[in-house]
Amino acid sequence: MSTIFEKIIAREIPAHIVYEDELVISFLDISQATEGHTLVVPKKAYATIFEIPDDLLAHTIKIVKKISNACQKAFHVEGLNILSNNGTIAGQTVFHFHFHVIPRFSDQDVIFKMSNRMNEVTTDTYKKRALLIKEAL
Ligand code: 5GP
Repeated sequence: MSTIFEKIIAREIPAHIVYEDELVISFLDISQATEGHTLVVPKKAYATIFEIPDDLLAHTIKIVKKISNACQKAFHVEGLNILSNNGTIAGQTVFHFHFHVIPRFSDQDVIFKMSNRMNEVTTDTYKKRALLIKEAL
């Protein structure tokens, strides 16, 4: 079954497309979390970052920068968030890998709540966690 983004790529459903090349498409997110909220989507569907090939990811992130620069110019943004949700638990709703470019105009227009647990983590725990990642590389 094709994703909603594949339907946009195939022009089966409409979208406000701002950029397209042979590998990537970029269009306004229907939800417009902030003015200019844009998605950058590889045309070939991979569900998450775990599946997408490195070269396609590299090209996609270059386009994220291009769109970010365009948003800065177009909307005079104060800053922006680059976001990719991977997996249901992380809030992903469309299982076709993509980046969100979310222009920011105030510190209240989007609430990302990330807890700071540094007081709960011992030096040993940091070491163990870092080791687990290094061993997995
Ligand atoms: P996710 O939740 O997977 O990180 O992001 C999916 C995004 O796709 C959501 O922000 C949602 O608003 C957007 N979206 C879902 N359906 C459509 C659609 O039909 N058109 C557009 N332009 N965006 C969509």
